[in-house]
Amino acid sequence: MEKEFLINDKIDLPISVTFHKIDDAILIIEPKNPNWIVLSQIEYELYDLLKNNISIKKALEYCLNNSNYSESILRNNMQFLLEKIEQAKFYEEQISITENNPENIKKNIHVYLTHKCNLHCSHCYVGAGNEINNELNIDKWYKTIDKLEQHFKYSEIVFSGGEPLIKKGFFEINVTTQPVSKKR
Ligand code: SF4
Repeated sequence: MEKEFLINDKIDLPISVTFHKIDDAILIIEPKNPNWIVLSQIEYELYDLLKNNISIKKALEYCLNNSNYSESILRNNMQFLLEKIEQAKFYEEQISITENNPENIKKNIHVYLTHKCNLHCSHCYVGAGNEINNELNIDKWYKTIDKLEQHFKYSEIVFSGGEPLIKKGFFEINVTTQPVSKKR
């Protein structure tokens, strides 16, 4: 775990999230960023306490007094949960307000290229499937990205969707906007 959590720490979890039960796991999605984590049942129970702005210690104590889990199981699962939160940076505010030079913060541009996707995953956070009517074509995307480049310094463009690879002309835009990173 990169970050060390102290037992009296409170975790600043995202406020606007949705919960989805998938088999034995709980998928928590923060659509604003977007970001997500997948938790086991016991991790979710601990998460549910932490999101009420109580400390790690209080959450463990509450669970110990109100469930059949042993202390060691609760401690282990709290550690798994905190690792997942830290790994995904699943916090309400991801950029530190103490940053001295905000202009130097690495900026990514996320281009939501198309709503179309051939996989139709049940857990899809945007409900991707069919192309929607008012999607920009690739020429308009290229012009939009070109304008953004004139106004912002950024280090990476992330093409997302839907499935960006099936957008007509995708490889054309990817060549003309070099250097870029193809990421999903
Ligand atoms: S965009 Fe497509 S591949 Fe990704 S989660 Fe949604 S349906 Fe699945």
